[in-house]
Amino acid sequence: MMKGAVANILEAIGHTPLVKLGHVAKDVKANIYVKCEFLNPAGSMKDRMTLNLVDRAEERGEIQPGGTIIEATSGNTGAGLAMIAAVRGYECIFVMPDKMSEEKIASLRAFGARVVVCPTAVEPDDPRSYYSVAKRLVEETPNSFYANQYANDDNPGGHYRFTGPEIWDETQGEMDVFVTGLGTGGTVTGCGRYFKERKPEIQLVGVDPIGSLYYDFVKTGRVTKPFTYKVEGIGEDFFPSTIDLDILDDIVRVDDKECFLMTRELVRKEGLYVGGSCGAAVAGALKYARSRDREENIVVLLPDGAAKYMSKIFNDDWMRENGYLDAEASLGVVRDLLGKKSAEEVILASSTDRVRDVISRMKAHGISQLPVVDGEKLVGAIAEVDLLRYLVTEEQSLDSAVGPLVESDYATVSPDTKIELLKNLLADARMAIVLDEDRIAGVVTKIDLIDFLARRTG
Ligand code: PMP
Repeated sequence: MMKGAVANILEAIGHTPLVKLGHVAKDVKANIYVKCEFLNPAGSMKDRMTLNLVDRAEERGEIQPGGTIIEATSGNTGAGLAMIAAVRGYECIFVMPDKMSEEKIASLRAFGARVVVCPTAVEPDDPRSYYSVAKRLVEETPNSFYANQYANDDNPGGHYRFTGPEIWDETQGEMDVFVTGLGTGGTVTGCGRYFKERKPEIQLVGVDPIGSLYYDFVKTGRVTKPFTYKVEGIGEDFFPSTIDLDILDDIVRVDDKECFLMTRELVRKEGLYVGGSCGAAVAGALKYARSRDREENIVVLLPDGAAKYMSKIFNDDWMRENGYLDAEASLGVVRDLLGKKSAEEVILASSTDRVRDVISRMKAHGISQLPVVDGEKLVGAIAEVDLLRYLVTEEQSLDSAVGPLVESDYATVSPDTKIELLKNLLADARMAIVLDEDRIAGVVTKIDLIDFLARRTG
């Protein structure tokens, strides 16, 4: 064996560079460093994690020589597992949602894996969902190992063992904030635990796309209505057991457009050849840095590379068709729908308001639902049906506070959310509450949307 060589490609996992951001971060006081996990051999930060999954499964005898690795994956976990399978002689079957780019599917097939594509727009427990299909394949395939990244502790464990320590060594403990996207939560939970054990005051900041469940849950403890978005790999419509949301100190959210424009900037201005969730993480880190406005060291993890997104983020036609470039011919954004109405005009209830007062407020304004706040902070929503349900119970009182009646039948959006998204969202949720950062900027119900669309068509 030659002195400078490694025995196989798996030994080349890790040792990725930590790079200071230049131009893109010039308007913030913080120093922003990016951890280039997209430079791993199979293309993402999942390489270390999947190696840990397979190593631990081999140790426990859960996978035998010649066995089949099965996984529900949005691509990068698949690539890591497929690379390991190639080196160690396993078969692979991957199940993916249909919103994934062609390149991701093709790259898994290139490793010799079988790929099964399933619809995105179904509930996770629907038999057609990619989680359910993966489970069924495991039952049907002899000598198979279900990697199960959404429930396998070896996922956060891989980041605790490898990614966390490497970042810690490179930063010599001088990191103040760690920012990362949230998918399975393996990265934030594993790295976060390692960092907090060494420096408890490190701020862990998650980045979540608008439409995912995490942001509202962290901010209000409510399981609101998820809706679709295009950025791949981050955000969820359920809570995987691999994520420890309590570990987060803060969470910021981003919309597709800002993710994709930032992804393009990172490639063009910083020479970082990265994918969409990297744009998301950096856009989120910059928002956080602006809100803190102080000199500190922020480390942002960049999960995967640009190559798999050529037909989307780096394709002007796709970007234009989806309204992510400026010359867009779309229905507009939520801000246009709210028009000149100021945030002060939004009708709210406080969680300590009495049932009686909320009823009269609804009557006075001719509305049937409204957001509920605790001080300035959104804590949920209340609707006519909730009051009705309460008033027919035995122990009802008009003088009770509405707090305990608050529910979660809403979704939160930003002023920049596209109107097109509201159509599906309002089919599922009672209303959309518009948050401008954490401030309530408005409410959109079905009739508001109908009215807006009717006025447009004249
Ligand atoms: N970005 C991309 C491109 C990913 O594939 C994933 C994994 N789903 C993530 C970010 C999120 O990482 P994690 O699952 O560790 O939270």
